[in-house]
Amino acid sequence: MGKMDFLREALEGLKSEGRYVNIRTLQTPQGAWVKIRGKKVLNLCSNNYLGLANDKRLKNAAKEAIDRYGIGAGAVRTIAGTMSLHEEFEERIARFKKCSGAILFQSGFNANLGSISVLADSGDAIISEELNHASLIDGCRLSKAKRYVYKHLDMGSLENAIKEAQREKPGRILIATDGVFSMDGDTAPVDEIGELAERYGCIVYVDDAHGEGVLGDHGRGIVDHYKAHETVDVEMGTLSKAFGVMGGYVAGSSELAEYLKQRARPFLFSSALNPGDVAAALESVNILEESDILVKKLWDNASYLKQGLSSMGFDLGSSKTPIIPMMIGNEKKAGEMSKTLFEEMNIFAQAIVYPTVPMNKARLRLQPSAVHDHGDLDYALEALERLGENLKII
Ligand code: PMP
Repeated sequence: MGKMDFLREALEGLKSEGRYVNIRTLQTPQGAWVKIRGKKVLNLCSNNYLGLANDKRLKNAAKEAIDRYGIGAGAVRTIAGTMSLHEEFEERIARFKKCSGAILFQSGFNANLGSISVLADSGDAIISEELNHASLIDGCRLSKAKRYVYKHLDMGSLENAIKEAQREKPGRILIATDGVFSMDGDTAPVDEIGELAERYGCIVYVDDAHGEGVLGDHGRGIVDHYKAHETVDVEMGTLSKAFGVMGGYVAGSSELAEYLKQRARPFLFSSALNPGDVAAALESVNILEESDILVKKLWDNASYLKQGLSSMGFDLGSSKTPIIPMMIGNEKKAGEMSKTLFEEMNIFAQAIVYPTVPMNKARLRLQPSAVHDHGDLDYALEALERLGENLKII
């Protein structure tokens, strides 16, 4: 036995359990249709909610910034990597989110890793939603605070966890939740969480990765949707989904941003985001502030696709947002459906399997965007109906 043979065994194990992810390579920009292995396919699995990933205004903003500031930021922010663009973005995103401060990170994942671990640490408690995104979970793991997990969307379970934590007299208690749950498309009751947190003096941390550009006035996110600005202390976001670029941020009070700039390790020890990306993200905030037309288009498409699928009898779980999980259950079956859709019906819809979702809760996750039209969605509905009938799912 070679010392690296475990790699082959692990890969074979994943394949035989239907959990091996087949990574598709795109030859075109993100859009309603993309080219993969020379074939044009309908794209139903991108987080490019508003179509901004290939938007002309964003591309021009990035090109201009590259001409003005160059390609790379050159260093970590605290050494020599902070450019006027980074600060401009922080001011703009804070204003957009109705907060007084914000800090930019290189990704949403980094924002969660860097922030949670320094907002609650040794002697504190973190109460985490059971379906939180991996980056929130890893952020909690990096903290030395004691961890409690509460049941999905269950406010009784959250209150019990707070009481249990309080019995042990921690320093601070931080509640961490996804705003929109990325594999189910359902939403956290951020208003109720805020009220509970007020009652018990807890800090509220909301991951708005799938809420911004989607929920709230002009896509300001889930906290704006619930008008819970007073009770949510930390809004984490990503620039890689609705904003169409790359990067992450945390918004809240100016003191929160100042504190994280002194303490968050990905900010202190990883180089700053490229100027072109920051300029493009700034342009996406401009676009959202100017008009909510793209947000409305996204919702119109999501409702159209959902209604069509529900009326055919598909189980769409409990989605309340444009994330549409088509529940299948068995890992292999979900994988085969995705393959058939791709190979025979020219539709790109990835299967989501364990460990991203619990075992036997495999699904196809469909994500329409603002750049699809009803013709695209009719094409998908017709194909999915045929497939569902053939497999006796509907
Ligand atoms: N939080 C959630 C809920 C996410 O879905 C993601 C992206 N998959 C992230 C955080 C990480 O964001 P990024 O892609 O910017 O690292």
